[in-house]
Amino acid sequence: MLKFYNTLSRKKEVFKPLKNKKVGLYTCGPTVYWFAHVGNLRTYIFEDILKRVLEYNKYKVKHVMNITDVGHLTSDADTGEDKLEKGAKRENKTVWQIADFYTKHFKKDLKNLNIKEPSVWIKATDTIKEQIDLIKILEKKGFTYKIKDGVYFDSSKLKNYGQLWGSKKREIKAGARVKMVKGKKHPTDFALWKFSPQEVKRQMEWDSPFGKGFPGWHTECVVMGAKELGIPFDIHCGGIDHIQIHHTNEIAQSEAGFNKTLARFWLHGEFLILKKGRMGKSKGNIVILDDLIKKGFNPLSYRYLCLTAHYRSQLTFSLENLKAAQNGLKKLSQRVIDLKQQSSKVKSRDIGQKARTYKKRFLNLVNDDLNMPKALALFWKMLDNKNLLEKEKYSLVLDFDKVFGLNLDKKKEKIPKQIQELVKKRQEYREKKQWQRADEIRKKVEKMGYKIKDTKKGAKVSK
Ligand code: AMP
Ligand code: ZN
Repeated sequence: MLKFYNTLSRKKEVFKPLKNKKVGLYTCGPTVYWFAHVGNLRTYIFEDILKRVLEYNKYKVKHVMNITDVGHLTSDADTGEDKLEKGAKRENKTVWQIADFYTKHFKKDLKNLNIKEPSVWIKATDTIKEQIDLIKILEKKGFTYKIKDGVYFDSSKLKNYGQLWGSKKREIKAGARVKMVKGKKHPTDFALWKFSPQEVKRQMEWDSPFGKGFPGWHTECVVMGAKELGIPFDIHCGGIDHIQIHHTNEIAQSEAGFNKTLARFWLHGEFLILKKGRMGKSKGNIVILDDLIKKGFNPLSYRYLCLTAHYRSQLTFSLENLKAAQNGLKKLSQRVIDLKQQSSKVKSRDIGQKARTYKKRFLNLVNDDLNMPKALALFWKMLDNKNLLEKEKYSLVLDFDKVFGLNLDKKKEKIPKQIQELVKKRQEYREKKQWQRADEIRKKVEKMGYKIKDTKKGAKVSK
């Protein structure tokens, strides 16, 4: 039985797709004005695990991810600058160049972390017409009002606005911390369409029945979800910061416009934090994946670190934690290489009763709201179990790694440099037909725990 914690109902619920064995999954994508930081990437790793667990349960997943390339302002209260325009100014490029560069970089990050690509990518700027159409529907139904700054959604018109918040009713008052747009009726109202400013020319703007401008951030996901998955769809995800504003406002538009809940399940990943609190650009303490790679870390060590915490718990990032994760992954990889060498080709019928029990336990853990820390602990326990055959262990490694995504079957044995040099020297002796010397080296290498096999393509070494 597959269970997920649903933010909407505030409890763990049994998951069943709306359509047989097909799952519609929507995950809010990046705002492509800057590099994704490792906090953002934690959320994408959590969503990748979710997708892999669905696939492990033999569901076919249609996964949609948007690229926010317009309309996300520097403040969630509909004030501030469009992040893309800000990025363009910073780098003296066009907004389109900025979006293109950071989208490509984001895709590279996903690849480095072995995150499976979504089935569909959509850019906000490719659905402007559909967004205008939705705003027109909302306008016709009386959910909007127009002020100098743009067209706004009137949150007081929707009876159950804010259902995603639960008991933690959002206390926002315009004032010191929330700078409210002039003319906005309620602090929870949000921009559907912003008018282009008169004083500066925006790079991205479109004509619309309301006036020239650009869409607000919360409309794109509703339109894309409806277009690609149909609504309601099965699962919608993001980081916890999306609960109060972005996802709440997506739900509001879907209910007001289409009289339908946008999605059945809402899953939210907790934040990655630093010892000293939040990671934030304004604090200047952002870490990106490239920094870690430059420091010599394997990006999959970061993936491993994320697996050690449940997605609904905060995870503290530090280089020490990452080093520990890297050591864990190295140890694991070596074990897998040893197992691979000791087991010949494995077929599932090779698995005995004990191994099958491990598979069942693993399934129960991952199906219990993605309990990765426990699944990882079970993984290590399985490797240490003396009652399992090596080939059974190897078969389980390959099976579990479908969910972990640590690329364990692709690990190649690293032969120490010292051994490699000895083997090279032996080869030279052999070419000179100095057999005795070559043999001495072979013995030496064997004493050090490595085996040499001479093949047509040269000498092959293994542990
Ligand atoms: P953004 O590009 O700002 O829209 O954020 C991309 C994703 O990262 C969203 O799902 C956010 O909820 C999530 N996110 C932002 N900061 C963090 C963090 N520190 N830890 C985990 N997820 C985060
Ligand atoms: Zn979204």
